[in-house]
Amino acid sequence: MTNHPFAKLGLKYSVVRAAVECGYSEPTSIQSQAIPRILRGKDVIGSSQTGTGKTAAFALPIISKLGKHGKFRCLVLEPTRELADQVNKSFIRYGRFTNLRSALIQGGVGYGRQCQTLAKGCDVIVATPGRLLDHFQQKNLHFRDIQIVVLDEVDRMLDMGFLPDVRRIVKLTPRKRQTLFFSATIPSAIENLARWTLKNPYTVNIGRRRSAAETVTHQLYPVARSQKIDMLIRLLEDADYESVLIFTETKLDAEVLARKMETRNFAVHTLHSDRSQRERKLALEGFQKGKFEILIATDVAGRGLDISGISHVVNFDVPRNPENYVHRIGRTGRANAEGDALTLFSSDEIAEVKAIEAFIDQEIERVKLDNFDYAFTTLLRERPQSRPVRRGRNRGYVPADTLPIDINKRRR
Ligand code: AMP
Repeated sequence: MTNHPFAKLGLKYSVVRAAVECGYSEPTSIQSQAIPRILRGKDVIGSSQTGTGKTAAFALPIISKLGKHGKFRCLVLEPTRELADQVNKSFIRYGRFTNLRSALIQGGVGYGRQCQTLAKGCDVIVATPGRLLDHFQQKNLHFRDIQIVVLDEVDRMLDMGFLPDVRRIVKLTPRKRQTLFFSATIPSAIENLARWTLKNPYTVNIGRRRSAAETVTHQLYPVARSQKIDMLIRLLEDADYESVLIFTETKLDAEVLARKMETRNFAVHTLHSDRSQRERKLALEGFQKGKFEILIATDVAGRGLDISGISHVVNFDVPRNPENYVHRIGRTGRANAEGDALTLFSSDEIAEVKAIEAFIDQEIERVKLDNFDYAFTTLLRERPQSRPVRRGRNRGYVPADTLPIDINKRRR
């Protein structure tokens, strides 16, 4: 065991054993860079892609450093309840050969059990900001003994308006602390927060900052808006899918699509913020366990969730925010598995497609289906000259002259 690559990073035996039991044979890039620094007490800022093994990159060294059960010494802040739940489970899994206690403090559920857990004492708290502050105000916990603060998915916290709460919480923790800061993207508001919270941090930068997961095949399917549902069903019929996560822009769109798919005999579930915490948990668990193959979600599910084995992500609408595209498709192709990301787009969504292509610095392949009865759409207008053709998996050749002139030209 001392020769195991995780042991060589300096992790304690109990933690290496947990990693081995998880089947991890080699550290990922973010892990081999971050773990030794975190063990040495350095502040770390990581702009890592989703699915890179980020959670273990901070959880393994934290558990190794905390050693055994004592006071509440490590706080992890997460933007969503699902993500907090998942990261807490990772702490429990990686800490199973120690007597450390990790607690989940998230909104949307009762206070009773959380108060009992806090009263019993825990070493790590994984929390969403609002509920954590409620407990602080009710004096159910204090931050005096904190040694390590993890701010995870900070760009998502920014999107959700949590940054003021995050600042308040960080201010309540001792100045002499280690801070670990993770964000898939680092816009200027986040850079300011990082400067304020971190001391002389070590930067872990994996790949291009905004690149989409490299194991994902992206494709765009031009289609008239009125035919999106028919196209989606056709794609599902053609695809050899195990599990499909479909994203819609709004909760209403998710419900409408679910009803339409049910009438066509697809078993689907929805995941969005109008669903109760219990419903969201059941939907997620059912999908993870393979009880049903199709989950329709809004961006609530788009970030950070580690649902392994998603074979296809479908964007029923082109995401308005290019960062959401990266986060949505990050659900597939995780931990080096192959995945497909399919995006249906109609002529009113060209600006969004362009913004995504600029953001990921990559042109996304356009695919036209054989034997699909296309209604006229300007996206499929004929073009005079011919260009190289590409084959989409399970699909026919794509005549380039059916692609829209303006969006298909190569950027420099
Ligand atoms: P994360 O980026 O933390 O969401 O992790 C993505 C997935 O990678 C999770 O399913 C982890 O269990 C898995 N994972 C983390 N570290 C490793 C590793 N060293 N080897 C193989 N899989 C890993």
